[in-house]
Parts: sequence; structure tokens; C-alpha cells
Amino acid sequence: MPVTRDDVLEWIKTCVKVLAENRDYLIQLDAAIGDADHGANMDRGFQAVLKKLPEMSDKDIGAIFKAVGMTLLSTVGGAGGPLYGTFFIQAGTKTSGMMELTLDDWCNALDAAVNGVIMRGKAELGDKTMVDALVPAVKALKECSRELQAALVPETPHDLGTMGRALRLSADAAKQGMEATTPLVARKGRASYLGERSAGHQDPGATSSYLLLNAAAETWADR
Ligand code: ADP
Ligand code: MG
Repeated sequence: MPVTRDDVLEWIKTCVKVLAENRDYLIQLDAAIGDADHGANMDRGFQAVLKKLPEMSDKDIGAIFKAVGMTLLSTVGGAGGPLYGTFFIQAGTKTSGMMELTLDDWCNALDAAVNGVIMRGKAELGDKTMVDALVPAVKALKECSRELQAALVPETPHDLGTMGRALRLSADAAKQGMEATTPLVARKGRASYLGERSAGHQDPGATSSYLLLNAAAETWADR
């Protein structure tokens, strides 16, 4: 079953809730290797998104993602604002005019979103940033999408569990990527000023990225 426009709005609402719940946790993570604002930044941005949701609700998925991105750009601040702004705007570009998303559509949207973050922030895998959670998530999604295309012959009915399973594997990959940031020395962003002292702490941006993708897996689990 594809993800509908209402499912997308539901995901955004879940993100608002999850970031509010994890505000203090993200602040603590950023206090250890940054300036302790990541949780407040993300919560402020998504609260602003929540206020704009009523005007987004009759738009197509691309327009919703673009509106989310523009709102985050203008409200989050710090490094995360432009990066998450770009993430959603790029996802919106790939889903322009769409009213529902197949696994393949979501795969393309997430791929573009993550490439946007990489282009903007110039971080590579292993630099101890959100990229470390996002790249493995896209990779897992692409693998599932390829697997599905290889397995699907025209007379095979569409496996209803497939999209939910792909989203779960993608969120799990993001979690592993997030956890793998702990021993790393930061090479990008504010944490890189600490040099070796940044090792031993989980990256806040990788954590918020995991939270967003996990929210998608949970909200769209039965797709
Ligand atoms: P700031 O560092 O300006 O206070 P935040 O605290 O909101 O901004 O966000 C910090 C997070 O942003 C980091 O944990 C890291 O994941 C991410 N980040 C910082 N710089 C980059 C970059 N160049 N590319 C990708 N992600 C980055
Ligand atoms: Mg910060």
C-alpha cells in the first residue's frame, strides 16, 4: 500500500511529538560536544511546522515537504536549520505533484534529501554528523527497493508488508549509524573544534535524523 498525503502529514505530526519528547535528550547530547542547542533548535522548528500544518493539508506531498523545509530553514538556526531545510526541500522536489508515495518514490525522495545534506554540509560518512545516520538509511532502502523489483513478476501480488519492512530496515540502519558515531572524532561542525575530545559521545544530529526516520517507520508501519 502506498503512503498517502495524509500519511505524510501524520509523519510530520509524529516528528513534532518525538522531537518535543527528545528535546532534553538532544540538548544533553549537544551539550557534550557542541553548544547545547540542538534539542531546542529542532523542537522550535517543528513547533513552527505544526502551526503551518493547517495550510499544508490540502497540498500535494512535494508542496508539503517544501513548506516543511522552508519553515525549518527560517526557524531552526544553527547548522541543523539549513541542513534539515535542504533535506525536506530536496525531498519535495522529487515528490512534486504526488498524492501518494510507493517504496520507490520514497527511496528517490530520501536519496535526494540526503544528497542535498551532503552537498550543503560537505560531510562524508565517518565525519560524525547526521550523514552517518542518513546514508545507511538510504542504502538499506535502496537494497529493499531493488530486492522488490527483482522479486516482483507481473503475476505476483504486491506484498503488503514490503514497504513497512523496508522502512523498518532503513530506520534500523539509521540507528546503527547513529550509534557508530560515538567513538568517532568529529571532522565537521562545531564538535570538530573539540578534536579528539569529541570521541566517546553520540552525535546529536545523527540522533535527530534517526528519530525522524524511526518516526516514518512507525507511522507508516502497516504500509
Ligand atoms: P550548531 O552546531 O550550529 O549548534 P545544531 O546543534 O543544531 O547546530 O546541530 C548540530 C548537528 O549538525 C551536529 O550534531 C551534526 O550532526 C550536524 N552537522 C554539523 N555540521 C554538519 C555538516 N557540515 N554536515 C552535516 N551535518 C552537520
Ligand atoms: Mg548546537
